[in-house]
Amino acid sequence: MVSLMQNRWTENYTREKVIKKSHLSRTADSACIAASGNCQEDSLQCSGSYQSGLCSGSATRRCCVPAAGDAACTATSGNCQEDSLQCSGSYVSGLCSGSANRRCCVPSGSASCSNLYITRSEWNARDATSQTTLQTPVSKVFIHHTDTPTCTDMASCKTRWNDIGYSFLVGEDGNVYEGRGWSNVGAHTQNFNNIAYGVAMIGSYGSRLPNANALTAVKNLIACGIQLGKIQSSYQLYGHRDAGQTSCPGNQLYAEIQTWPNYSNATP
Ligand SMILES: [Zn+2]
Repeated sequence: MVSLMQNRWTENYTREKVIKKSHLSRTADSACIAASGNCQEDSLQCSGSYQSGLCSGSATRRCCVPAAGDAACTATSGNCQEDSLQCSGSYVSGLCSGSANRRCCVPSGSASCSNLYITRSEWNARDATSQTTLQTPVSKVFIHHTDTPTCTDMASCKTRWNDIGYSFLVGEDGNVYEGRGWSNVGAHTQNFNNIAYGVAMIGSYGSRLPNANALTAVKNLIACGIQLGKIQSSYQLYGHRDAGQTSCPGNQLYAEIQTWPNYSNATP
């Protein structure tokens, strides 16, 4: 099921494309847009690969489709490029495929970090009984799984967690749900709650991965955390098991996050 959050990203992204090709009708390039691509003269640089037959106009106008590994950058309305190039916004690490110099240029004022998550009031959370302000930006992010059944729509995602100590929760509906949020100390990773965010993926990921919607949502959340000044850009990423005796976040999810650029092999 396509989530509201995904729709928002897609809308933002599509809107940008429509502005860029203002002299053409929206429908003429719809096949390219549907592929998350951008119609342009193929003499221009394309950060992914060119595909023919998806764009209107001359044969040299082709569809530049972002590389699959760049989806997290694309989701923030950003663009993967060599970080020696000028960026009209700010560079964010960890969202692009390829070499470490290839980073995500996120436009300033990008709307992608507003409406980033479903707020506590939106999912009808009870008020917290006590709150401690978290010092930000934090240096660490811990990934958890809730080890509960997964959820693929908002109605079930709203009821699937067993511990609201997490900073945020992410469902396979692609939505992020606010837990303790950016501003409050959580109760997710013993000894590290004061210096880290804990993000829980709703479901049990010992023998399978969260779907692409959920993985992209986590990457986007972290990227926005950096943009918003809540997470240090040089942050270290860990799985819960790196900090204690637990199988969390499950073998499959743990293997996945170990491939992400900010995963740290150092003791947290
Ligand atoms: Zn955990």
